[in-house]
Amino acid sequence: NAKLIDNDSVIFYERGMDEPYTRLVDLEPDLKRALKEDEFLLYLQPFEEARTGELCGFEALIRWQHPTRGLIGPGEFLPFIEQLGMASELDDWVLEHAAQLIKRWQGQFDTLVPLAVNISAKHFQQPQLTQKLKDLLKKHNLSADLLELEITENVAMSDIKTGMNVISQLQGMGLKVAIDDFGTGYSSLAYLRRLPIDRIKIDRSFIAELQESDADATIVKALIRLSHGLGKRVVAEGVEKEHQHQLLKELGCDVIQGYYYSPPVAEAHAADMLARIQTQAAVSQ
Ligand code: C2E
Ligand code: MG
Ligand code: MG
Ligand code: MG
Repeated sequence: NAKLIDNDSVIFYERGMDEPYTRLVDLEPDLKRALKEDEFLLYLQPFEEARTGELCGFEALIRWQHPTRGLIGPGEFLPFIEQLGMASELDDWVLEHAAQLIKRWQGQFDTLVPLAVNISAKHFQQPQLTQKLKDLLKKHNLSADLLELEITENVAMSDIKTGMNVISQLQGMGLKVAIDDFGTGYSSLAYLRRLPIDRIKIDRSFIAELQESDADATIVKALIRLSHGLGKRVVAEGVEKEHQHQLLKELGCDVIQGYYYSPPVAEAHAADMLARIQTQAAVSQ
């Protein structure tokens, strides 16, 4: 169940129930306003290069700075956005602001790292996505290698032909694509091989199961070998503990993300992290 708090009461919304629908509609103007008035903001969660321990990218994760309710996470409003058919509007907002953020960083730093953006399922299935992304890169004069896209496994697999087409087009534009939450969806390994994606992000449920003993590492080990066998980079998400971090490094995982390295942070904090890698680059020159 998703929970959402409105102005004067707590709404419990249950999937598949018709009854709260009127309330869902009540939420629409709120969400429209949030888009228009920029009440949303992007938090940034760093990626760590496993081999070196260095910052190698960020993922943009949306938050809603609600005028009266404070900071709200996507788990509490994305389901409503999708139900209201506003998913691509939200993605457009995120892409535009991600592009603006990259531009700001370009003005401040010599060394940049890519920014990954999550694309919702509904939006990915729309034929105009690739053109939109082309326009976005052109409008901001952005190099495609600074922007990455994350789509969930089911999105790419539900309509294989479309999925392959879209991903090929994106790849042709120089955009890297990652399969998010890998292992929770259809997992059609044969198609995975044919999808021209760059990275596989192992879902955090598998990482959470990595216990102190090595025995539980079987699935993660297999996923890393599978990905490498297909020529893809592997990202582990939701890495919280030192022993998980250590084990993933030993297993040859390429990129690590999670609270252990850093939680999602506000823009200023992310900029501090970027500032730090400039000094390192300058020192090692
Ligand atoms: P995701 O893309 O798989 O993002 C990872 C989620 O796990 C994030 O939650 C992040 O804060 C959380 N996380 C990161 N490290 C850890 C950890 O070590 N332990 C635990 N327990 N959690 C960790 P968040 O920010 O609440 O986002 C949830 C989901 O909402 C995302 O899952 C993504 O599917 C979606 N989402 C977030 N931002 C956007 C967006 O801008 N656009 C779209 N379309 N979807 C978004
Ligand atoms: Mg993601
Ligand atoms: Mg994920
Ligand atoms: Mg996830």
